[in-house]
Order: sequence, then structure tokens, then C-alpha cells
Amino acid sequence: MSKFKSINPYDQQLLETFDQLTDGELEQAVHNSEQAFLEWREIPMQQKAKCMHAAAEVLKNNKQKYARDITLEMGKPISEAIAEIEKCAWVCEYYAENAADFLADNTIETDADLSFVSYESLGPVLAVMPWNYPFWQVFRFAAPNLMAGNTGILKHASNVMRSGLNIEAVFRQAGFPAHVFQSLRIDHDQVAELLKNPAIKAVTLTGSEQAGRSVAADAGQQLKKSVLELGGSNAFVVLADANLEDTAELAVQARFQNTGQSCIAAKRFVVETQIYDAFVERFIHHVKQLKVGDPTDESTDLGPMARADLAEDLMQLLQQSINQGAQVILGGQHEGPMFEPTVVTEVNPDMPIMQAETFGPLAPIIRANDREHAIELATDTDFGLGVTVCTQDIDFVKQKLHRFPDGAVFVNELVKSDPRLPFGGTGISGYGRELAKDGIMEFINKKTVYIKH
Ligand code: NAP
Repeated sequence: MSKFKSINPYDQQLLETFDQLTDGELEQAVHNSEQAFLEWREIPMQQKAKCMHAAAEVLKNNKQKYARDITLEMGKPISEAIAEIEKCAWVCEYYAENAADFLADNTIETDADLSFVSYESLGPVLAVMPWNYPFWQVFRFAAPNLMAGNTGILKHASNVMRSGLNIEAVFRQAGFPAHVFQSLRIDHDQVAELLKNPAIKAVTLTGSEQAGRSVAADAGQQLKKSVLELGGSNAFVVLADANLEDTAELAVQARFQNTGQSCIAAKRFVVETQIYDAFVERFIHHVKQLKVGDPTDESTDLGPMARADLAEDLMQLLQQSINQGAQVILGGQHEGPMFEPTVVTEVNPDMPIMQAETFGPLAPIIRANDREHAIELATDTDFGLGVTVCTQDIDFVKQKLHRFPDGAVFVNELVKSDPRLPFGGTGISGYGRELAKDGIMEFINKKTVYIKH
């Protein structure tokens, strides 16, 4: 039965179909992961690092092919898809170089002759991943976890199964033993079944709040650890002393990259009143420069959304907000998955486009009376992934850091992920951290060792 379909969102062509794994095949895959784990954990760190460096090379050498498959499957502009593959190579190199240090024994003086913490692998870890960065989301899980000695089982989003299989091929070509990383064509029910299998030790999910609640509940039932990287509604705050031109350009990039379908995209623009009109004017100027069209064309900035139903969902949020008084000053229409870059003013914090996550190219801009009001508006959300503050008064932001409950505060820069920095959210944006040392420590047995002679 061909359950999964890859459909090019730009022209609706069916690219490929994929058969769902039978329950027997799934059972076998878990068994294979368990067996691979027993061997993989014995491989010296240096050898693991060699494989991970090789994975970076495979990615760099094949970036055009992998990027093209990403663009065909989910509509991301090809230039952004290539950058995504390059970033995956970076995270592989980062963990190849740093994992041994991160996981070195930590000696602690006690009454023992020797006491230390040993950081050990857990076993097969399940990763449930979204389509919006089909390679990056997976690599930021896989690079640290394979270096830690765990094995990975991927359930990718059903519209990007080719990318999932490409990732498995990267690791095989790089010399990782069979089944250390597997991409499985499975559905939601099979994820729930997998979590009941004692061989699966933990789960990480990147995706929507709804998916997070469901998978974390199943994991909780089995007392298995979960990490959740969920949605965001990041505020992009512009204080009156910000550099107007730089900030407007940055703001457009922060909202419209990946056709607005990024968890850490700026989704609400909060602008101090003195600079509001000028900011809106410069923002619109830069939005109008975006080239909309065929995502396989290297000069395209904005392609289709990944699926037509996602564009319809976004349109509904917009329409409900218009009914409550919001004004569209640019764009506002969609045809299938092609959603015009849209700018909305006259918004208030209770409107759906301010409360829900707007996962597409739509920018609401709200006026703040002063700096205090700007912070209040920025933090008026249950999400907690990140915030950008644009100002020349760095001391002000430092003093107010505690007022932002988010996982990240970026000053005069868009919120972005970097292998060297921990990444994750609070509130309904999830829990746990990826990347940096924090990321590799999530699925580790921190074993206390106490020795008396
Ligand atoms: P989604 O619908 O939640 O899907 C994400 C993954 O979860 C997919 O593999 C999906 O499988 C699976 N899934 C959904 N419900 C499930 C269930 N009940 N049981 C088991 N698996 C389930 O999210 P999406 O539309 O792909 O991605 C967009 C969302 O991801 C946005 O909210 C975005 O903000 C968030 N996101 C967060 C981060 C972060 O780092 N915080 C990064 C990127 C994206 P199917 O495809 O088969 O439904």
C-alpha cells in the first residue's frame, strides 16, 4: 500500500510514492537498531568522529542533489535548500570535533577514593521530525546522538520521505554501520506502538504543539524521556533608537525566510510609536523586493508554501483577524499554496494572527507606546522560543533579560540556530535543548561512579 506521497507544491506533480512499513518490518527495524547499538557503542570515539566527518563530506559533495530533492518535495527556494545542506555539514563537523570533550568523565572529589560521572549512551532513540527543514531538523538530532553512541530511528513528515531516505543514505555512504541510523516510513499509530517497545529508550519530536502533546503523553505512559521542539510566535521588537534601514531589512529576512515556515521566524512585529510609520514604510519597501516564484530558480526568494491546506489555514487566521479590524496593507491573497507576502497593520494582541502561530509569509505589525509596552506586547504569548530586540541600548536589554521567558534573546539579529549554542523553548514551545553541549546531554545516562579501594 502506497501510503506516503511526495507532491511538488509548486506544480502539484506527484514525485514519488512510498509504501508504509508493515508491523513485522517495523519490529525487524527496531531489532536491527538494538543490535546496531550494541556494536556502535563499543566503537572508539575517534572512529565515530571519522564517520561523522565523512558524513559532512558526503553532504558537501552531494549538496545540489539533496537540495533539489528538498525543494521539489516541500517548495523551499533552492538557494535556501543548499544553505541547509551546508549547515548540516557544519553540525556534523562540530560534533565530530567536540563530542569527546563534552562526554569526558567528570571527576568530583568526595569521600571516595575516586568518584566521577560517566556519560553513557542510552540505546535506540526515536526522532519524529517536520518537513520545514527536512535535513537540518534531523541532523541536529542525529549528529550529537550518533556521536554519543545512541542509534537513531527517524519518522519523518509524510510529505518528505525522500529526504528521510537521502539522510539514511548519507550516513551509510559515510561508513556508519548498517542500522545505526534508519529512516522508517511509518504513521502516527506506529509511532505510538514504537514507544511501547522496550527497545526504544527515548523520543525527540520537532513539530506542532498538538503532535508534541500526543507523543509526549505516549512517552510519559512508558516513563520514557522526551524532548520537544515545538512552534513559536517570536516577537521582533523595534525600539525607537534602532537603526531603521538595517532593522527593516533584517525584519523582512526574519519573517520571510523559508517562505515564513520556520519555528523561529519573527511572527509579530512590535514597533515603538516614534519609529512606527517609518519602519512600516521601509519594511514594505523590502518586502516588495522579494522575488516570488519557482523555487528551483536560484534567484527566487519566496516559493509556494509546502501544502495548499497550510495556506488555507493561514488565510483563515488572516480573515478572522480582518473581521476584527486588522488591515492588509500588502498582499493578502493566495492561490493554492502560493501565498502573497502579506503585511498587516491595525492589529491588537487578541487577534488570531497575534495569538496563533502564523506559519507562512504574513507579518502583523503592532504599535507600542513605549519600551515597557513593547516588552508587554512581545511577551503576551504562551509560546517561548525566542525574541529579537533591535536597539542601540544594549544595557537596556541586558537589564530586562529576565522579563523574556523565551529560550533565546537575540539583539540586533534574527533568532537563528547555531551548532555552538543551545536551542530550545519554554511554555508551549516545548522543553529540552538541542545543539551545543546541552544538546548531546539530553539522551545520555549520567552515571555516578563511586570507588573505594
Ligand atoms: P506536525 O504536523 O506536528 O508534524 C511534525 C511531525 O510529527 C511529522 O513527522 C508528523 O507526521 C508527526 N506527527 C504529528 N502528529 C503526530 C502524532 N499524533 N503522533 C505521531 N507523530 C505525529 O508539524 P509540521 O506541520 O510538520 O511542522 C510545523 C510545526 O513544527 C510548526 O508548529 C513549527 O513551529 C514546528 N517546528 C518547531 C521547530 C523547533 O525547533 N522548535 C522547528 C521546526 C518546526 P506526519 O507528517 O505523518 O503527520
